[in-house]
This record gives sequence, C-alpha cells and structure tokens, in this order.
Amino acid sequence: MTFKDLGIIAPILKALSEKGYTNPTPIQEQSIPILLRNKDLMGCAQTGTGKTAAFAIPILQHLANNSHENRQSHKIKALVVTPTRELAIQIADNFTIYGKHTNIRNTVIFGGVKQGAQTQALRRGVDILVATPGRLLDLMQQGFISLSAIEYFVLDEADQMLDMGFIHDIKKILAKLPSKRQSLFFSATMPTSIVDLSHKILGDFEKVTVKPEQATAEKVEQAVYFVSKKGKIKLLVYLLETQSIKSTLVFSRTKHGANKIVKLLDRDGIKAAAIHGNKSQTARQKALENFKKGIITVLVATDIAARGIDIDELALVVNYDIPNIPETYVHRIGRTGRAKASGVAISFCDQEERAYLRDIQKLINQKIPVIAEHPFVNLIDEKPESNTQNNRNHSRSGNSSNRNRNRNRNQKNSRNSNSRNRK
Ligand code: AMP
Repeated sequence: MTFKDLGIIAPILKALSEKGYTNPTPIQEQSIPILLRNKDLMGCAQTGTGKTAAFAIPILQHLANNSHENRQSHKIKALVVTPTRELAIQIADNFTIYGKHTNIRNTVIFGGVKQGAQTQALRRGVDILVATPGRLLDLMQQGFISLSAIEYFVLDEADQMLDMGFIHDIKKILAKLPSKRQSLFFSATMPTSIVDLSHKILGDFEKVTVKPEQATAEKVEQAVYFVSKKGKIKLLVYLLETQSIKSTLVFSRTKHGANKIVKLLDRDGIKAAAIHGNKSQTARQKALENFKKGIITVLVATDIAARGIDIDELALVVNYDIPNIPETYVHRIGRTGRAKASGVAISFCDQEERAYLRDIQKLINQKIPVIAEHPFVNLIDEKPESNTQNNRNHSRSGNSSNRNRNRNRNQKNSRNSNSRNRK
C-alpha cells in the first residue's frame, strides 16, 4: 500500500516523499480513506503510530481541493485541540511539512507565552489552527478567533485532556463549533468517560484501533536495574559515562526530582536540561531544541511535559522512577522506537517500586530482563519507607561513613534480594 493508492493528491505526495515517508503506517492506511469519505472518526491510538499524519493529510487534502472557495478568506476551517504546548507545536510543524506544496496556512497557539505573535498570525488569516484549550478560549473571548467557519475538528489525546482537567474547556469549545462539521477524536485509552465524551463530539463515525501498547513495548529493547533510591543517580552517571549514548530522555515522577537530577548530572559534568510544568514555555522550547540539535545529550522530563514529544532517533529512555500507572510506562518507552525505529528503555527500580514493576509486566505481558551486574547493585536504601523529600539533605548519600557501614551490613541482604528477583 502506498500513499498514492490511498488517493493522496500530488502536492501532498511530493511533501511526503521529501519527508522520507514511503508507506503509510497502519493507522494512516485505515484512517485516511474514512476521512477522505468525510466520515467522522474515532481513533484509538497514541502518538508514535503516525497518528498526526493520519488526520493532517486528509484535512490538508480537503482544504486544498476546496481552495478555490477558501482562497480569499483564510478563515479558520480546521481546528485541532491538543493538551500540551509541545504537542501543539509538533502537530503544527507536521501540517507545515505535509502542506508545504499547497497554499494552506496553519498556525499554533498555546499558553505560557505572550499572545502578540499568535494574534498577529491569526490576523493574517489561517486555514488550520492548532491550539491548547486555555489559550484558545482566551483568544476566542478576546475576539481574535471565531469558530463559525470550522469544517474539521480534531480532539487529540482526549484521555490526557480529561486527566489534565480540561473537560470544562472542551465543553465550552464544543458549544461554539458549527454542528455541520467532520469530527475526529483520538485517545490512547477508551474508558467510559472518554466514550461518553466522544458521543458528544462525533456524529456517524467509524472506529480505528491501533493497539500501540503491546506493539510499542515489543519493539523496544527493555531492561531493569534493581538499585536503591540513592544509587540511582550514580547508576545514571555511570551508564551515561560508560556507554556513549547520543540522546537520553530521563523520566522523573516529579518536577522537583527532575531539577535535582539535572543538578546532580551537572556536578558530574554531564550537560542536561529539565522540562516540566514549572519551567517557562521559552525554557522548555529551548531545552527541547538543544536536545534535538544534540547540544545537550540528556533531557530530564516529567510525564506531562514529555507526552507525545517526537524526537527523531531518540537512543535511550530511562525510567529514573518507575511510574505507578502501568500505561505511563508504555507511553514513556514509546518515546523511543517510534514509527519503524527500534529503541532501548531502561528502568531503575528501588525497593518501593517493585509492585509498580509487577503491574507493568502484567500490562505488557512481558518479563522485563534484569541487568544483574552493575556497580551499584549492593547499595540499598537505609530507610525504604523514606521519600525523596527526606532524602533531599543528603543527596550524595554514599559518602558518609555511617551509610557505608549500613551498606556493608546490607550487602548480603541486597544480593539475596536481587537474586530472588532475577528468578
Ligand atoms: P506521530 O504518531 O504522529 O507522533 O508520528 C510518530 C513518528 O512517525 C513521527 O516522527 C513521524 O514523522 C513518523 N511518521 C509518521 N508517518 C510516517 C510514515 N508513513 N512513514 C515514516 N514515518 C512516519
């Protein structure tokens, strides 16, 4: 199956071939024909499957085919709403790439930055708007945006939207959309709340499911290291120093934890940057750009900030903390091994996280191989029940003589527990 077989028009085919896409991914193969027939679509898929092109290509094609009617106005005819700023930027970039040989214009709006450049772009006129919910409502209220000419509406990452508490914003946006439109609804998971929401948005729809969870997990080479909370930073430094890894995305459960990892890596001469919700949009973008350009080789992120981020050829994902929601693990390791590439994901698991690891293995239906040999295998937590806050005052724990004594005392136990867990 080729894009040409799917009936894609020449200017878009040209852009896809320039981008190096030879064949459609499964979600594209299934969704594009439905969307070109003007049907509504419910897509059960996450980023990494080629979902963006699956909706962007047909929207561009519809708009390009009707461009004789649209040319003068450049009114907003397609609206894509997505939960995070990074995703919004990425989606808009993709519209620009796929639509570069058409006269279809797009722009992106998101919060956390001044609105001037965004309102200017809107004033010049755009056909496609990619937006995060808050800034969209804000600019609608200020009169910069009208949704009255919308013909295509995409709600992306619906489950994450609800997780982030955007339900009221979504309802407000829906209330302003013309009832005659084509609607596309994407979500990685489909709990009842999401299905209910989809019914409010979609008319007569067709459903496409690309099972990404297991598929992604199968493509990624995974490993787990059993290590203490405090041994984690040493292990990370050790891995980064001994294996020349081009690009590593490190996941931290908390924003504070992400900052701390960056600081500790810096102390060992490893250049890293953090992205999370407390960083300004400019700082996040700069970190991401520097990472994509290879100026820094380690990016430390929280889940919300990193979800959907598309980094070509990301070599390694490190789960510095094991996520307590098993699906999050799959989202994280999906940052590597995107599209057809394969990747590596390693996880650091301390005593308290063993239960999370078991849940993950159940979800992906795989046993993650354990790397039994590493220099920090004998470090175990003195107080397994203590949290990161309590540990803050002694970040490099291994230096105190007390702790060394504890460590020696605990070596035997640790070895036993590790060999038990390897079985
Ligand atoms: P997405 O799920 O939209 O975030 O896409 C994941 C990655 O797959 C991105 O890097 C896309 O550029 C890439 N991609 C999307 N469609 C194709 C395709 N047909 N062939 C090769 N790569 C693709």
